Amino acid sequence: MYPFLVINSFEVVINTAQYKQILQLADTCKATLVAVSKTKPTSAIEAMYQLGQKDFGENYVQELTEKQTQLPADIRWHFIGHLQSNKVKFIAPFVHLIHGVDSLKLLQEINKQAQKNSRIIPCLLQIYIAKEETKFGLDEEELTKIIEALEPLTHINIAGFMGMASFSNDTNVVRKEFNSLKKLFDKYKQLNKPNFQLQYLSMGMSGDYQIAVEEGSNMLRIGSLLFGARS
Ligand SMILES: *Cc1c(COP(=O)(O)O)cnc(C)c1O
Repeated sequence: MYPFLVINSFEVVINTAQYKQILQLADTCKATLVAVSKTKPTSAIEAMYQLGQKDFGENYVQELTEKQTQLPADIRWHFIGHLQSNKVKFIAPFVHLIHGVDSLKLLQEINKQAQKNSRIIPCLLQIYIAKEETKFGLDEEELTKIIEALEPLTHINIAGFMGMASFSNDTNVVRKEFNSLKKLFDKYKQLNKPNFQLQYLSMGMSGDYQIAVEEGSNMLRIGSLLFGARS
């Protein structure tokens, strides 16, 4: 379907044409493109790194830590999966941004591990916008409770929000969900605390990134369009 770059005879790794196209859109919209490399080999990440890509997203702690030791040190690793508290310590030394934070307990653990590593770790709060029960995220009431409890957490910074729209062919539904997150983002952007400074709105994946940028996303998490479908 697309002209994939073939690195060796049996492994199709990245779609260069698609990458350039998405990057151009991201640049125009002043959005950061996070290349989601979960389940993909380090050779695929290296190929994209050679094109200048520095931001990569991973979902699984063990996979991320293994890749991090094997790949260039200036890669900015985004953790985009559902993070368990007992695994924060493994990524705390190097993670660039944690996208899916959805509880105070997790935030407290990130703060603790960040402190141990003498770091301030930027986090995005995951907001529940989809109709689907299976998706994670905070509602506004939970969000305000977390904001009230932030003061002692001096080693984290809430740098934005993240959301996932419903998996739906109805673009109006997806658009409405992204729009509701953008409104919430704009509202809470007014709030300026030492460790709460909203800058990033992480929304949009392979299937809905165009709608996401139209609705104000400035951080895209795209996997399969760049690396091919995951098995
Ligand atoms: C896998 C994943 C993506 C990328 O999905 P694609 O549809 O392959 O672009 C983005 N965000 C999250 C949270 C993911 O788990």
